Order: sequence, then structure tokens, then C-alpha cells
Amino acid sequence: MLQTAQELIKTVSKQLNLSDEDTEFLLSANAEHVFEIELSDGTKHQAFRVQHNNTLGPYKGGIRFHPDVNLDEVKALATLMTLKTAAVGLPLGGGKGGISINPKELSPELLEELSRKYAAHLSPHIGPDKDVPAPDVNTNAAVIDWMVDEYEKVTGDTSKASFTGKSLGKGGSEGREAATGLGGTFALREILKHLGEEKKELTVAIQGFGNVGLFFGTLLPKQLPKLLFTAASDSSGGVSSAFGFEPKELATYKSTGKRLVDFPEDDSVPLPGDSILQEEVDILVLAALGDVITEENMKSVKAKIILELANGPVNEKAYDYLTERGVIIIPDVLANAGGVVVSYLEWFQNRAQEHWAEERVNAELERYMVEAISKAYDYSVKHEVSLKEAAFALAIKRILEARREQPETSA
Ligand code: NAD
Repeated sequence: MLQTAQELIKTVSKQLNLSDEDTEFLLSANAEHVFEIELSDGTKHQAFRVQHNNTLGPYKGGIRFHPDVNLDEVKALATLMTLKTAAVGLPLGGGKGGISINPKELSPELLEELSRKYAAHLSPHIGPDKDVPAPDVNTNAAVIDWMVDEYEKVTGDTSKASFTGKSLGKGGSEGREAATGLGGTFALREILKHLGEEKKELTVAIQGFGNVGLFFGTLLPKQLPKLLFTAASDSSGGVSSAFGFEPKELATYKSTGKRLVDFPEDDSVPLPGDSILQEEVDILVLAALGDVITEENMKSVKAKIILELANGPVNEKAYDYLTERGVIIIPDVLANAGGVVVSYLEWFQNRAQEHWAEERVNAELERYMVEAISKAYDYSVKHEVSLKEAAFALAIKRILEARREQPETSA
């Protein structure tokens, strides 16, 4: 993932005729914090926070708890955050953190201890004006609330703006839970508008009916009422129906803990494994994992439009192949930016000591998404590049312009 992100930065840097020094500036991380957390049960765990670039504002990015977390992955995700925040026009930089651990094996007490020790160790390096972490894979509002509490104990800060993704009672924002899925519906609607296809009866399949996929599916009809939702999958496999599903009905079924592959509708057909990726649909929404479309399966993809709600679901080779074939891929840095936009709005509300209604948060989210998609689309048409290259180019230009405007610091 790190290599893919860095290769794309190099490609776009060449297109923009950047100097080696500028390219190196975009590739390198400002700081890498690698440390060990020892828990009271005697176990030790590697922990990371990479602060990639803060030219546009404080570092921003989630913290994941997962056994596969390693420095390269955290660096890649931090790099992508720098590009994502810049691509959507936020006054923030990019960072990412994580702990190499399976949190499901921890008692609630050890999970709290882990979260507090992570925040305490990083407290000199993070904060409302320096680095504002958020939840990511296997971390949630409860973990963030412990971290904020610990950060406040150590530093005396009371602004609540040190982390985002807090629970509502602890300074969280309305609309955060649905933000990535809702942002995805705005991204798809805007691209279809640019293509003149928003009123067509197109079919949609969603791989990954979890938090993001579920909000996306249930909120989509409001933005694009003519779309027909014909397939969905989770880790158990999926279902398809030529007559279409009511997203809310599938969501209710999933909320009872059942597997989508068992969805009991007369005209529905089970989809084993990852076969949803080969469905005859107009739009394929990838909301599960990274690297699901690769050189192994790219030739069997039939969709004309792919929405990347997961991070990096189409690998570099597949991206080039599908783009060459005329498939429009709405890239992760734009498609799933709704989460970081509302994170920014949470930080903004905390600093202004305000609490906005959900309608206001969603209206601001829509404004950011519409503008980011429109600029990237226009750039991609003008310069005959993919939407991902367009988003990267615009992000890189913003970062370098801001860098040039910054006063020189004396050594
Ligand atoms: P989640 O764990 O709630 O949902 C993931 C879903 O994918 C689950 O339903 C799971 O069953 C399904 N899944 C796993 N493997 C699958 C497979 N092989 N085929 C089909 N489905 C499979 O996670 P989420 O929060 O919805 O995040 C989904 C993706 O979006 C992740 O890649 C995440 O990094 C990315 N993302 C999330 C956010 C956010 O705000 N939650 C923001 C940006 C990006």
C-alpha cells in the first residue's frame, strides 16, 4: 500500500514537473513515533503514530487496533490522509496511528488501559493545534473518550478538540456515524451529474454491508431515487435480485445478526464468496477491504463505474487496466472523505464551543463533497487524467502552494 501511494505521488509529481526536492517533501513523513505499551497483564504491544505532513494544518488521521498494524501500513495510511484532507480542501494535514494487537482478545479493563497508555505516551506530540487523531478499524467513541480523558489529565486541556470521533456527550458531532456513507452518496450523485446520467435507471451492487456500506445503501435513494440496488455482500457472501432490494429491508435483516447470503426473498439468488465483483451492474461500490480488485480478477469486472468507499480496494495494476478500459473509478481519497470532513467539523465545533444540528453538519459535508468532486472532475477532463490522478494533483498543488506561502523558519 505504501508503494502504491508513493508511486502515484511520483507519477503525478512528474506530470506536474515538480522538482526532486518537492517530490521528496511529499513522500517523506515529518515524524514517526514507534513505542511499546506494556499492559498490567505483562503483555507488550508495538504502537505507532506517523505524522506525515502538516503544511495545511494539524495532522489528522485515525488510530487502528489490529494484529496486522505495522510501520509501513501506518506510513501509507498517513500519506493518504495528507492527500485526502488536501483533496477535499480541509485546513488539515495527514497522520495515522495504530497498535499491533487484537482488541477482541482484551478485557474491557485492558482495552481502557491500552487506550489511556497510548494517549499518555503521545500527549507531548498531539493536541488541538498539532495532531488530532480519530477512530479507525476496531476503535470507536469509547476508546476515543478514554484517550481524550487521559490527554486532558496529562496536559490540562479542556477544549475537547484533541481527538475527534468522541461520543456525543463528550463533545462528538452529530452526523459522524453516517458521514462516510453519506459523503459517498454525494460523490456518486455528483459524478453521475457530470456524466449526465443521474436520472438514468442504473443498477448498483455494494460489496461490504458494514457501517459505511449500510449507511451508503440506505441513504442513496434520497440522492438518486432512480438507481436500482440489485446486490449486496458481507464476509459471508452476498445476494442479488434482478428486481432490486429495499436497502432498509436488508439493513434491518443484517441488524438481527444474520448473514446476507441467507437473505430469504423469493427472487433473490445467493452470491458465493467475492462473486459480487463480477455482477452485471452499472455501479460497483467497494465498501469492505483494500485490494479486492487486482490483476487476478480485474478482467471479470463488468461495472462501468466503481465507487471506492474502502481504502485502496482497487490495486494499482487493476486501476490502470480498468481506467484504460473506460471504467470510471471514483477514488477513495474523494469517495470516502465524508468521515474526515465531519471529523474536521467536530474539531471546528469544539474549538468554537458550538454544537451544530445534524442538518447543518450534513449541509456542510455536502458542500465540501460537491466542490471537491467538481474540481477533480474538471481537472481530469482538462488534463486527460484519471480522477485519482486529478485528486492527487489538486492536493499536491494545494500543499506546495501553502508551503511556498509559509514564512521561512530560521534554523
Ligand atoms: P465495517 O467493519 O463496519 O464493515 C465492513 C463490512 O465488510 C462488514 O459487513 C464485513 O462483513 C464486510 N466484509 C469483510 N470482508 C468482506 C468480503 N471479502 N466481501 C464482502 N464483504 C466483506 O467497516 P466500515 O467502517 O464499514 O469500513 C469499511 C471500509 O471503509 C474499510 O476499508 C475502512 O477502512 C473504510 N473507511 C471507513 C471509514 C469510516 O468512517 N468508517 C472512513 C473511510 C474509509
